Amino acid sequence: MNDKSGATRRTVLTGVTGLAAAATIPLVAATASAGDGFSAVDQPRVYSCDEWGARPPNGTPVIVQSRPNKIIVHHTAFPNTTDYSLDYAFQNSRDIQDLHMDDNGWSDSGQHFTNSRGGFLTEGRRGSLDALLGGTTMIQGAHCVGQNSQAIGIENDGSYHLGAPVPAAQWDSLVQFCAFICRQYGVPAEEIHGHKDFNSTLCPGGLWDRLPELRAAVAGLLG
Ligand SMILES: [Zn+2]
Repeated sequence: MNDKSGATRRTVLTGVTGLAAAATIPLVAATASAGDGFSAVDQPRVYSCDEWGARPPNGTPVIVQSRPNKIIVHHTAFPNTTDYSLDYAFQNSRDIQDLHMDDNGWSDSGQHFTNSRGGFLTEGRRGSLDALLGGTTMIQGAHCVGQNSQAIGIENDGSYHLGAPVPAAQWDSLVQFCAFICRQYGVPAEEIHGHKDFNSTLCPGGLWDRLPELRAAVAGLLG
């Protein structure tokens, strides 16, 4: 979560350093993912940092030279907008990045990817999309203490800890995207978790209650 309401985000995410150590190892060239025997999963459209107008990060992204072993689902705890447009998804991505860089003092967005309430997917921390498409490395994130070098973090825009429903478009894109990530990195559907499984937080609210449903839907797509 990246709520703007006070200290929660700091409480939740303190200790998560940004990118203090500059990586000198270049990104591994994109190669075909092993797939690990999963069925083909359609690659969803993910808008890159350049497409949504991200600021450059402070420092060089840290490339983890191994695959992530799980996905962690978050909610932003931002207001539940009814603007489901691509423009809003882009603005939301910029708002999160500003919050993480200017308020939290991080090098870049903390999460790897963002899923808008309209179901538009955007890259979060720069380099995350290339790493995903390569399927062999990940960018070190700043979204969940203790998991940032082994878990892909997805921020789902909205506040879901007070019972608000998740828009169908957002849910559908989350299912599709998780399946694609699982296929690219060889992550089993059982390894989709919520932020509060690891840190003291309400995040991701009602999305946590739906994790069994999410795992089942992803497993169905993976075959
Ligand atoms: Zn979270």
